[in-house]
Amino acid sequence: ADQLLNAAGLRKSYGPTPALDGADFTVGPGEVVAVMGPSGSGKSTLLHCLAGIIRPDSGAVHYRGRELSAMSDAERSALRRSEFGFIFQFGQLVPELTCTENVALPLRLTGMGRREAEKRAAGWLERLEVDDVRHHRPGQVSGGQGQRVAVARALVTGPRVIFADEPTGALDSLNGERVMQLLTDAARDTGAAVVLVTHEARVAAYSDREIVVRDGRVRDMAGAL
Ligand code: ADP
Ligand code: ADP
Repeated sequence: ADQLLNAAGLRKSYGPTPALDGADFTVGPGEVVAVMGPSGSGKSTLLHCLAGIIRPDSGAVHYRGRELSAMSDAERSALRRSEFGFIFQFGQLVPELTCTENVALPLRLTGMGRREAEKRAAGWLERLEVDDVRHHRPGQVSGGQGQRVAVARALVTGPRVIFADEPTGALDSLNGERVMQLLTDAARDTGAAVVLVTHEARVAAYSDREIVVRDGRVRDMAGAL
C-alpha cells in the first residue's frame, strides 16, 4: 500500500505497566488521522514514537521506507526539521520572538535568510487569518490566535507530516473548530498528512480516519465498522 509512516509492534514502558503494548499504525500521504482514546492510554507515546522523539523498546517505525531507529541522531533531527511539523496544546511559541519571527524560525534553522523567511512567515500568518498580530509577541495574543500562529509555524517548511497533540485542548469550541478547519484545509492544500491526538469527537470529525488507543494497543475504527 501507499504508506508514508508505518509503525509495527511498538512497545514502550516507563515503568511496570507498558504505555504501548504492541501498537501498529499506518498513515498514507495526505491522510488526516485522529488518534483517540482515554487519558493515559498511550496516545502521546505513540505520537512521540512516530515522530522519532522517543525510541520504542521494541517494534519499528518506518518513514518513507526508512527505519527511524536506524538513523543517526543528526539524521533524525534533520528529518524532524524538514519533513515534520509539530503543534502542541500550548507553550510552543518562543515568548521573546514576535509571531512573524516564531513562524520564520523553522526556516531560519534550515539556513534561510531572514528576509525570505519572514516573507514566507507573513504569507502563512495571512493564510491563518492572524496577520494583524504579526508584530505581537505570543504573550500579547489570544489562545486561538496563538494556535493559528503555531499552525503557521508547523506548515511553513512544507512538511509531509504534521503531528498535532491536543492542538485545540486549551481553546473554547468555536476557536477549536476554526483552528481545525484552517489546519485541515492548509494540510489538504499542501498535501501534508496529519496525525492528530485528541479526546474530543468534534475535533476528530475533521479527520479522514479515526483510530482508538486503549491500554497501549491500537484499534482502527474502519475495521470495527
Ligand atoms: P495519553 O497521551 O493517552 O494520555 P501517554 O502516552 O501520555 O497517554 O501515557 C501513557 C502511559 O505512560 C500513562 O500511564 C502515563 O502515565 C505513562 N507515561 C507517559 N509518559 C511518561 C514518562 N515520561 N514517564 C513515566 N510515565 C509516563
Ligand atoms: P538509548 O538506547 O539509551 O535511547 P541511544 O544511543 O540508542 O540511547 O540513543 C541516543 C538518543 O537517541 C536517545 O536520547 C534516544 O532517545 C534517541 N533515539 C534513539 N533512537 C530513537 C528513535 N527511533 N526515535 C527517537 N529517538 C531515538
